[in-house]
Amino acid sequence: MEYQTILNYIAEAVRPSFGKGKVADYIPALAEVSPQKFGMTLQLVSGERFSIGDHNEPFSIQSISKLFVLQLVMSHLGEMVWTRVGKEPSGDRFNSLMKLEHEAGIPRNPFINAGAIATLDLLMSLKGNARHRIRNYLRYLSMDDSIDVNKTVMQSEIDHAHINRAMANLMKAHGNLNGDVEEIIETYCYQCALEMTCEDLAIAGLPLASAGYSSLHGDAILSKSQIKRINAVMLTCGMYDSVGSFAYRVGLPAKSGVGGGILAIVPGVMSIAVWAPELDAFGNSYVGTTALEMFTSMTHSSVF
Ligand code: GLN
Repeated sequence: MEYQTILNYIAEAVRPSFGKGKVADYIPALAEVSPQKFGMTLQLVSGERFSIGDHNEPFSIQSISKLFVLQLVMSHLGEMVWTRVGKEPSGDRFNSLMKLEHEAGIPRNPFINAGAIATLDLLMSLKGNARHRIRNYLRYLSMDDSIDVNKTVMQSEIDHAHINRAMANLMKAHGNLNGDVEEIIETYCYQCALEMTCEDLAIAGLPLASAGYSSLHGDAILSKSQIKRINAVMLTCGMYDSVGSFAYRVGLPAKSGVGGGILAIVPGVMSIAVWAPELDAFGNSYVGTTALEMFTSMTHSSVF
C-alpha cells in the first residue's frame, strides 16, 4: 500500500475542515496553540513509519496520557484496577460529575477524568515517584528521552482544575480515593501537560497494534491479554460521548486528548497518531477524526 501517497492526499483533503472546530480554551494555556497545525504518523508493525505535516512538533497529550497510566497500573496491579473504575462508556462529557454521585464514586471507565484520577491514585499508591514513572514510561515507549512536561500548561491546568478537584473530592468522600486530593490533582495535571510528537505517540502505540510486542524495542511490553482488554476499553470509552459516531465513522480503538491528538490502533497492522488542535463539541479533534475517517475508508482498515 502506498501509505505516503495516502497521507499526502489526506493532508490536502482535510483543509476544508479547518475552522469548523475550536481549540480548547478552558485550559487557558492550550488556547495559545495555532489552530492550523496538522500532523500524522503511521507506525507499522513491520517497523516502517510514514509521516506528514507537523508530525515532529510536540503537543499537549492531555487525556491520551490516561491510556499510558492505565497500562502502568495494569502492569503493576493487574485486574484489581476494575474494582476502582468500570469499563462501560459513560455517555456524558469527559469531565461530567453526574453519574459519579449516582454510582457511589465509582467512575464509569478509566478514560473519563474521574476514572483517570482514580487510576492515577492507584499508581500513586506504589512506591516511587509517580510523575517520573509516567514520564519515563513514555520516554521508553517512544524511544525519545526529550519527552517532558510543559510547566506553563501544567500550572494553567492546576489553576483551573475546579471540576476535576470536585470529582476527586466526591470520590474521596465515597472512599474511592486513598491519596491526598491536591497531590493527585497536581499529578493528574502533570500527566496531561506532558508533550509528545505524532511520531512519539505512534511509536508508543506500537505494542497496542502488535499484541504487546514492539519490533522497535525488540521486547514484549504488554501481554496479549492486556492488549485485548486495553483496545476494548479504547474502542468503547476512548472518545467519550461520541464513541459511537467515532466507531461508525472511523472504526478503530482510539484515545483522544483536548490538545487535539488522537492515537488510533489498527490491530495487527499499525498504530496511527494524528494531531490537529481544533476540537468538536465532544472534545475530540475535529480535523483529526476526519483524517482518520478518510484513512480507514481509503485503506479499508476499520476493525469492522
Ligand atoms: N487535562 C484535561 C482535563 O482534565 C484532559 C481532558 C481531555 O483531554 N479530554 O480536563
